[in-house]
Amino acid sequence: MKPDREVVAQLADYLEGTCKSIVEACQALDLDEGIDWEDVLLDINIERCSGCDWWSESCMLTDVEEKNGFFCEQCLGDLGIERD
Ligand SMILES: [Zn+2]
Repeated sequence: MKPDREVVAQLADYLEGTCKSIVEACQALDLDEGIDWEDVLLDINIERCSGCDWWSESCMLTDVEEKNGFFCEQCLGDLGIERD
């Protein structure tokens, strides 16, 4: 069962720009922890930086193949990688 769009938006609002965990958000918003929220968020282009764990819009993150993850601009700087 897919969660309500409204609920997803609420979750995205709660997480975006923070490094809170999904579990924390579920508890704060009284959501079902059994749902793969990361996958749900990915559907609306909200992803977690593989470096600092901050939630951002997908377009703000850069795919770094050799690190096998998506990183925000700050982490790219820390890794010494220039964004195109
Ligand atoms: Zn980062």
